Amino acid sequence: MKTIAQIAAELQGYDPQALSADQVLAFLERLVQPVTATEEVGIFDALGRVLAHDVVSPLSVPPHDNSAMDGYAFAGTQLLAGQPLTLRVVGTALAGKACTGTVGAGECLKIMTGAIMPPGLDTVVPQEFTTTTADGRITIAANVLQLGDNRRFKGEDLMEGSVALAQGELLTPAALGLVASLGLKTITVYRRLRVAYFSTGDEILSLGEPPREGAVYDSNRYTMFGLLTRLGAEMIDLGVVRDEPALLEAVFRDAAQRADAVITSGGVSVGEADHTRTMMKQLGDVAFWRIAMRPGRPMAVGRIARSGLQAKNASIADAASNSPHQKDDEKDRPGAILFGLPGNPVAVMVTFLAFVRPALLRMMGSTRPAPPLLRAVSTEAIRKKPGRTEYQRGTVTTAHDGTLQVRTTGNQGSGVLSSMVQANGLIVLHHGQGNVAPGDAVDVMVFDGVI
Ligand code: AMP
Ligand code: MG
Repeated sequence: MKTIAQIAAELQGYDPQALSADQVLAFLERLVQPVTATEEVGIFDALGRVLAHDVVSPLSVPPHDNSAMDGYAFAGTQLLAGQPLTLRVVGTALAGKACTGTVGAGECLKIMTGAIMPPGLDTVVPQEFTTTTADGRITIAANVLQLGDNRRFKGEDLMEGSVALAQGELLTPAALGLVASLGLKTITVYRRLRVAYFSTGDEILSLGEPPREGAVYDSNRYTMFGLLTRLGAEMIDLGVVRDEPALLEAVFRDAAQRADAVITSGGVSVGEADHTRTMMKQLGDVAFWRIAMRPGRPMAVGRIARSGLQAKNASIADAASNSPHQKDDEKDRPGAILFGLPGNPVAVMVTFLAFVRPALLRMMGSTRPAPPLLRAVSTEAIRKKPGRTEYQRGTVTTAHDGTLQVRTTGNQGSGVLSSMVQANGLIVLHHGQGNVAPGDAVDVMVFDGVI
């Protein structure tokens, strides 16, 4: 487990006051480790979980050569170029039943989709390519079929003994089906990540509190709930925490005890007259960054150790270590990773998507690479200063000629959450990039499938 200072020393040109987005990602990759504890779950509970072991196929899928169509199976060597072929139907092969009997030259079997290909037969003519003669034989027109057509091979989906799904894969709907196709009822996944969240700031109201001048309702907590739930993490909701050292200390300690990661919003800007930063510094090994990005910029990152907690709060720690489940968790959780995000609602989402999400995925054990950014043509000019990464809310649409185009959604203020609702992606204007002219292609991180 590396300290913040050790990781910083490894990174070329590390300057906490001017980090690029790439440096932040490189830093976080060194800071966070995948959990190790696993659990076995049924397929219905496995969606979005991360596979903890390779799944080796115990059988071949499909288990036999079989027909891809409803039609007639026969030996394809009888097909001659430019000539029709007439065959006598000597039996029927149904799906799910082994076929007995032999089929000779000039003969065929009526066969259903999925039925086992009888020995010696290699070609299926779909029903609609045939005509029936007066004496009940079938005729295949010339040149409509080739030897081997409409035959599925044994193991063409998966061969027995091969790796069907690799460790670290996120279980998608297709993956669930694949697991079931192997006859497996359960699957071993990494344990679910627990992420504690609380909002800070004395001006933040919880729902149910009456409005008061200068105060705003806490939206970050609900946005974060959505983001974490979509990711498949369990959110431990610690509410809004007032700016009092004793309260902050208690909630940080509680969060570090219970969670793999602690996310906060607010109170990390330089000018903040609050105790959040002080408490982070006091309880953890934490770096305070200014990131060359917009929106966003201030962010605190580090680790809140659990050992300190055990010393000060022995009874809780003892109780926890009596449970075998907790013990297992402790081994893979030397401390809770802290992500202190800025308070502005859009900045929270952007910093989450750009940095926290990839880090949490790594902690979940996922090895899936980040989804590729889309290229879309900007329909408008966008002002952009080189030397920082900008994330503009955008709407991607398909133009008449089929190309993707994107425009920004209105007011880009970092508190304007409605623009985030309208957007279907973030236009990512990279560190070195300058102004965008209408017609220029830009990168877009689309939300669909992500949030
Ligand atoms: P801060 O980073 O604490 O300076 O907050 C920046 C802005 O975001 C301020 O206008 C805050 O009122 C607002 N803000 C902070 N936390 C929240 C929250 N949980 N929900 C909604 N707005 C917030
Ligand atoms: Mg504040």
